[in-house]
Amino acid sequence: MARLKNPVGASHPSPNPCEACSIGQDCCTHLSGLRVTEIEFARCFAAHADKLLIQREGTIYVITPKNGAACPNWENGGCAVYDARPRDCRLFPFTLFVRRRTDDGLSLGYHSDTRCPLKATLLASDHEARTIVRQFGNEALPGAAIEVTPETTLERLKRRARTSTYALLSRVRKRSLYRRRVGSA
Ligand code: SF4
Ligand code: SF4
Repeated sequence: MARLKNPVGASHPSPNPCEACSIGQDCCTHLSGLRVTEIEFARCFAAHADKLLIQREGTIYVITPKNGAACPNWENGGCAVYDARPRDCRLFPFTLFVRRRTDDGLSLGYHSDTRCPLKATLLASDHEARTIVRQFGNEALPGAAIEVTPETTLERLKRRARTSTYALLSRVRKRSLYRRRVGSA
């Protein structure tokens, strides 16, 4: 399988700007909550299912590597499935999310509120991002009505609050684990 150095992004100028990533190519090495369709899962992740925490949002898979590991497709500083990588990877530094799902429709949102240090260089155009998100929706729920709109201000505030709460809880959990270990030593 071709192994390319370019880890992510809708389109990359050459040389690959991700090689200058100042946060350790965090998007692939600390992967969390990647959304993929069943087809993308079968293509890129089914062979690594034992290494993944997998949640389902209807027909969509939400995947996170176990134990904080890197994406299982991350090999030797590059993506082993680059040409076939899922849309959520193509989209980055945009990220997609499911806003609402009904029996015959799917409302999808997207935002670029990510900590990629090269966002200004890598970000796809809004039109390109919207097209990729729509393709994702069409593949996830074929024949359904797909609505695609950017994240609203209220959604952004709620997401940031959720993220802060999660980070706080995780710090508290780590601290109490540390105290228990030190106490029992
Ligand atoms: S965080 Fe940004 S610069 Fe770093 S590897 Fe990912 S897309 Fe590239
Ligand atoms: S599939 Fe490739 S681009 Fe996507 S997170 Fe994994 S290594 Fe990165």
